[in-house]
Amino acid sequence: MANLSLKHIYKVYPNGTKAVNDFNMEIADKEFIVFVGPSGCGKSTTLRMIAGLEEISAGELKIGDVVVNDLEPKERDIAMVFQNYALYPHMTIYDNMAFGLQMQKTPKEEIERRVKEAAEILGITEYLKRKPKEMSGGQRQRVALGRAIVREPKVMLLDEPLSNLDAKLRTQMRSEIVKLHHRLNTTFVYVTHDQVEAMTMGTRIVVMKLGYIQQIDTPKNLYLYPANKFVAGFIGTPQMNFFDCTLKREGNNVHIAFKECDAGLDVPYDALLKVMPQYLDGQKKVCVGLRAEDVTLEPEAVASSAVTFKFKVSHVEELGTETLVYGDLDLNYSGIAETGTRIVVKAAGFKDFRSGEIVEAAPNLNALHLFDAETEESILPRIPKENFLSCTVKEGKLSFGSLCVSLPPAIPCADGAAELLLPSDAITFDGAIPARLCASEEVDGKFLLTVEAGGVKLFAVAEEAPAAQELKIGLDLKKIRIKREGQDVVSPLPEINALDGAFVMEKVREKTAAKRKKEVRYCMEIAGVRLGSTQEINDKMFAAFSGRKVFNTQFRYEFSPYGVKIGEEGIPAKAVEILDYGREKFLKCKVGESELYVLCEREISGEIFLLPDPEQIGIVEKERDIRIV
Ligand code: ADP
Repeated sequence: MANLSLKHIYKVYPNGTKAVNDFNMEIADKEFIVFVGPSGCGKSTTLRMIAGLEEISAGELKIGDVVVNDLEPKERDIAMVFQNYALYPHMTIYDNMAFGLQMQKTPKEEIERRVKEAAEILGITEYLKRKPKEMSGGQRQRVALGRAIVREPKVMLLDEPLSNLDAKLRTQMRSEIVKLHHRLNTTFVYVTHDQVEAMTMGTRIVVMKLGYIQQIDTPKNLYLYPANKFVAGFIGTPQMNFFDCTLKREGNNVHIAFKECDAGLDVPYDALLKVMPQYLDGQKKVCVGLRAEDVTLEPEAVASSAVTFKFKVSHVEELGTETLVYGDLDLNYSGIAETGTRIVVKAAGFKDFRSGEIVEAAPNLNALHLFDAETEESILPRIPKENFLSCTVKEGKLSFGSLCVSLPPAIPCADGAAELLLPSDAITFDGAIPARLCASEEVDGKFLLTVEAGGVKLFAVAEEAPAAQELKIGLDLKKIRIKREGQDVVSPLPEINALDGAFVMEKVREKTAAKRKKEVRYCMEIAGVRLGSTQEINDKMFAAFSGRKVFNTQFRYEFSPYGVKIGEEGIPAKAVEILDYGREKFLKCKVGESELYVLCEREISGEIFLLPDPEQIGIVEKERDIRIV
C-alpha cells in the first residue's frame, strides 16, 4: 500500500529519443491507474521507470515518502506483471510462485501461507502441482499474477498483461484483475493500448501521445469532457465523428456551418456559453465532434427536436443490440470512402436503412464537442480560462456592462472601445463590486462559478463554493489583457522571470585551527553571478546528469515576481520603473537584455541586486527542454 508521486519525470534514451516529457502525477494509495495510448507513446517507459528497470533522465519519483530514483528494483517494494508471463517451464506452479520468496529467504511456512492464499484468490489451488505447459494461457497469466501477489508489494505494476489472451478470456481476466485490486487493496498501475480495457478498469486514466500526457481523468470525465481532439477520438467506439466547420453567433443562436458540404446546424447560444467569443466570428476554423451515440434517428425524437440535420446512408453494420449507420452529410456524395463529412450513428436494435436513403437525425446538443482546428484543444473547457468582454476605456476608467473600475497607474490605456480578456482566476472574492451567484459547478476539486455583476455574466474560479448568493467581487488587474484590432494594448504582468545560467562547483578553503580543510560547494550561476544552491537542487541536478556533465550544461532559471528579493548582493540589475497595480507594486528591472518583474513596495531606482529564493526557483535544461526543478 503506497501512494506514488511523479514530478517532472523525463526519459531521454541514449539515442536521443525523448520518450517521456514532463510527466507529473500524484497517485493516491489504492488507486487503479491506467496508462493508455497508441504504441510508442511512452507508457511502458513510464511504468519501467517506476519499476526501476529504466533509469529516470530527470525528475523525482517517490513511492510512499521515499525518493526511489536511485533505488534498485528489488528495493522499491513493487511487483511487476508482464505481457509474456515468463514462467519457469521445469518448475511446478507452486515453485514458480514461491521462487521469488525463496530467493529472499522467506521462512518456508510463510511462503506456503502466501502461495496458498494467492492461489485461492486466483482460483488455481488445484493446479499448484502442475507444470506451466499443462496450463492454458489464462491460467498461466494467473500464475504470473500470483507470483506478483505473493510478494505483497506496495505497488503492482502491470504491462499489457492480457494482450496475449483471446478476446473472451481477456474480458474475463479484466474483471478478475479489478476484483483482485479490490481484494488486495494495493495501488495498481496498468499499461494498455486498449481504450476499452482502460475505461473498464481504471479509477483514473492517463491518456498519452508521443511522450506527453494528454489528460488525466476518470473514465467518465474522459468520455464526457475530452480535453482535446486526440482524447476525444481515442476514447469511445466507434470513434467520435469530426467535422470541420465555422461558428457564427447570430443573436441567441450560433450557426454551425460545415465546411465541406451545405449542411448546417443552429444551436442555442446558451449551449455554447463557455466558448470564447473569438471562435464565434464565422471565420475561425473549428472542429465539431459528435459521438455516434449522441445522434438519434428515432422518428419521434427527431420530430420533437429543434435541431436536426440530414445525411445520406451508405451502409449499415448490424451488431445485434445496435446498428451502426454509416453515411455522409454531403447528400450528393454516394461513395463510402473517408470524407470530411462522413458520419456514423449508433441506433438501438436492428435498423433497416437502405444504401442511398436520406435520413433525418437529431444531435444531442449537450454532448457537442468543439475543438480549435489548429491546436486541437477543446474550446468548450470545463473551466473557461478567460472572460471575453466588450469594454471602453475613458480617462483611466475601464467600463464593461454597467461596471466601471479605475485602472491603476501600472495600466495606462488610451481612451476608446476595446476588448477585455479577464481570466476567470482574476476574479477575487474580497472586493467591493456587488455580484450575484448564478451557478456553481464542482470541477476537479475547484468550483466554477457563474456570477453576474453589472449586468454581465462572468466565469470565476473558487476554492470553495460560496455560502451566499450575494457576493462582493474584486478584479486582479495585473492579470487582464486589453486588445484593440487584435493587438494587445494592455498585457498582463508576466508570472515568470527567466534568466540563463549554469551550475558550478566551487572549492572553498576553510582554515581551521588544526588544518586547512578543502571543501566544495555547488552554486547556481545566474546571469554570471554565483548563488548558493540547496541540497534539494543539488540532488536533482546530480540525479539528472551523470558525472561532470551538469557543469557543462546551460540552464534557464525561473522565478516568480514573488520569489525574489531586492537586496545588498545578488544579481545586478537596473531598475526601470515601478508598476503600481493599486494593491501591489512591482519593480520592472533589466538584467542585460532581459526584463524582470519583482514585488516591491517602495520607490527604487538605479542599480539594484536581485536575490531569488532558492526554495522557489525553477530550473530547465535548455538544450533538451527538460525541467529539472
Ligand atoms: P509504449 O509503451 O507506449 O508503446 P514505449 O514506452 O515502449 O511506448 O516507447 C516510447 C518511445 O521510446 C518510442 O518512440 C520507442 O521507440 C522509444 N524507445 C523505447 N525503448 C527504447 C530504447 N531502449 N532505446 C531507444 N528508444 C526507445
